Order: sequence, then structure tokens, then C-alpha cells
Amino acid sequence: MTVRLGTPHTPTATRVLLLGSGELGKEVAIELTRLGVEVIAADRYPHAPAMQVAHRAHVVDMLDPHALRALLDAERPDIVIPEIEAIATEVLAEVEAMGLATVIPTARATILTMDREGIRRLAAEELGLPTSPYRFVDSRGGLAAAVAELGTPCVVKPVMSSSGKGQSVVRSEEDVDAAWTYAVEGGRAGGTRVIVEGFVDFDYEITLLTVRHTGGVTFLDPIGHVQVDGDYRESWQPQAMSGAALAEARRIAGAVTENLGGRGVFGVELFVRGDQVLFSEVSPRPHDTGLVTLASQDLSEFALHARAVLGLPVPEVLMLGPSASCAVLAEGTGVPVFSHVDDAVAAPGTDVRLFGKPRVDGRRRVAVTVARGEDVDDARATARAAARALVIELVEPGGGA
Ligand code: AMP
Repeated sequence: MTVRLGTPHTPTATRVLLLGSGELGKEVAIELTRLGVEVIAADRYPHAPAMQVAHRAHVVDMLDPHALRALLDAERPDIVIPEIEAIATEVLAEVEAMGLATVIPTARATILTMDREGIRRLAAEELGLPTSPYRFVDSRGGLAAAVAELGTPCVVKPVMSSSGKGQSVVRSEEDVDAAWTYAVEGGRAGGTRVIVEGFVDFDYEITLLTVRHTGGVTFLDPIGHVQVDGDYRESWQPQAMSGAALAEARRIAGAVTENLGGRGVFGVELFVRGDQVLFSEVSPRPHDTGLVTLASQDLSEFALHARAVLGLPVPEVLMLGPSASCAVLAEGTGVPVFSHVDDAVAAPGTDVRLFGKPRVDGRRRVAVTVARGEDVDDARATARAAARALVIELVEPGGGA
């Protein structure tokens, strides 16, 4: 088989539409443009990170099926890469069924993973994979009953949410009311369905990046990470694991991604305690904790995604050494301006990505540092130091602030 790639801005172009244009999409767009692909970036707001490196950009409400369909009809991409979960996925199913474009990894995978219920029921009930105990509820009373049944502590999350939005830990029955209100306010699309999960007292948690490509399946080295309020703060690779735990992690990741099908990178999130591994969730796309692969691998998760999506081979990935990433958050209101960038990248093996997010209103991830080190602890310390060195000012240009 031969893979043919045309030239952007001509009828020969291989055209990829990114639905969602955040920092992960930006890296995917860079990798695709390196291969001469024409990249079209869409998101809800103008000047989103991936739009800044794409051939064209569209501002569109991707939850609106008519708007999404109109975008697909206007652009007629060969490949559609959903980068976020908040998409009118029924349109993707339609486009796939009509053979109009390839949806990455598959329309069904985007539907099953857009809410926690689809993927949890698939993993636990259909595939029989180990997970935390869980219940789905739709009311404050239902939540109280589920908490009584599962016992405390437990974790409450809206079925449609990401980055820890609406997520809280219930430590006693008194926390139920607050957890309900917080979950309903934090859920996407005004939903009131929440999942309650038994709290897992894990030793560590990992992302097992799994690449499905024309030549088969590749598991990358496990990535360890730290989350605060359900949002990733630091990640490192490799996370040391027992042989038994690693084998079990691969078995679970293999089973879930095999069922979801298609081609591309998946981020399989797992909790590990001793040799026991529990499935938590999966992103059918590169994962934020996988930003560490910008330092640790010759082909990052973004480069691997581009290759897999285009039908190119994925050879054995060369590991460049123990590495870490550290998320950089800005809090407040205004346009980010970074200083001491020189200090942040001064140490050998250290790098930074400034996402170019147009504004911050509240708390937002605006950059990441990555570093290699002698071992994972050394790499983590270097990535953290680089993140601390960055100084972020939020300004109002022209506003006289
Ligand atoms: P999620 O959005 O489901 O990936 O959750 C974000 C983070 O919250 C996870 O990476 C864990 O650190 C933590 N978390 C989620 N669910 C549980 C659980 N059942 N037990 C313990 N920690 C959890």
C-alpha cells in the first residue's frame, strides 16, 4: 500500500479538520503540517492555540449539529480529528456512515467517551474490566442513596465534564448537598446526571498511551502523574511498575482500545495498587499528561497520532531518557504575558510550550515545561523549577490597566 499526501491549498491536499483547537490540537496541527497536510482548525472562540498554526480557522459551536454539519459540508475534510468531548457526535456518526470522511478514531469511540457513563458501562459491564464500584444518579436524593450504598469516601463527577470540573470527594453524608450542587453546576450542557465512584486509595495512577496504527498496537512507556482537583499538574515517564501490574495495564488498555477501534493515540487512565490495576477512563486522542513525550520520546504522542491517523507506520519509539512535564496555570483576568522565559529554558534538556491562549478568565493552563533528567525525580525537579521561573502577567492591552 502506498500513502499519498498532496499539497496544501491545492485540490491535491490531504485535509484534516480539528474539532477543538487547544494546546494538544496545536501540537497535532504542527505535526500534520510538517507532513504537508492542510489543517483546518475549529473551536468556539477565535485565535485558539491550534488555529494559530493551521491553514484556516473557523469559530463554531460544535455542540450545534447544524453548525457542525455546515462546517463539514463547507470544508469536506478527508479526516476529522475531534480534540474535545463537547461535540454533536451524532453528526460524526452520520459523516462516517456516509463515507464522507474518516473520523478519528471512530464515531462510536467519540460517542462512548463523551460521557462517563458510556465508557464506564462498556469497560465494566461489557468487557468485564476491573473498575472502582460506581452508580449513576439523576437527583440529590439518588446521590444520597448511592453514597449510603457505596460508603465514604467516594468521588462525585458530572457524567459530562473534564479537567475536574464539578468533581468533588464526599467524605461524609454532610458533603452530599454540596457535591450535588457543585456537580450540576460543573457539568457540560446543563446535564444533571452524575457518577458516584468508590474512592480508590491507589499507590499511583498512570496514563498508558496506546497507539492503534496500520501495523498493529503499540503501548508506550507508562506515564505517572499528579492531579489536583481532577486536573493534571505534573507527569513523568517512565513510571516504575511491577511486571505484573504493567502486564495487567496493557491487557486492560488493549481490551478497551480494541473495542473502540480505529486508528490513533488513546490515553488510557489507570489506578494501580500493588499488582492490581483498575480502569478509570480513556481519551480517544492524545492526553494532556502525555505532553511529557515532547521531551521523552523521539516521536511525541502528537507525532505518533499524526502518523497513525495518516496510515503511516509507527516504528519502535526511541526513548530519550527519564522526563517530566509541569503544567503552568494562570489565574485572574487578561491576556497572558510571559517573562523570564530565558530562565525557564536555561537548563539543558529543558523546554517550554507557551500555548498562545488569547485570554484567561479564572484559572487556565497557559503553558507547560518539559525536562529530561538523570532519573524521574531529577526530571520532575527540573520541570518544576522551569515552571516556577516563568512569571505570568495578565494584562488588558489598550485598556490602560
Ligand atoms: P477523571 O476526570 O475521572 O480522570 O478524574 C481526575 C482525577 O481525580 C483522577 O486522575 C484521580 O486522580 C482522581 N480520581 C478520579 N476518580 C477517582 C476515584 N474513584 N478514586 C480516587 N481518585 C479518583
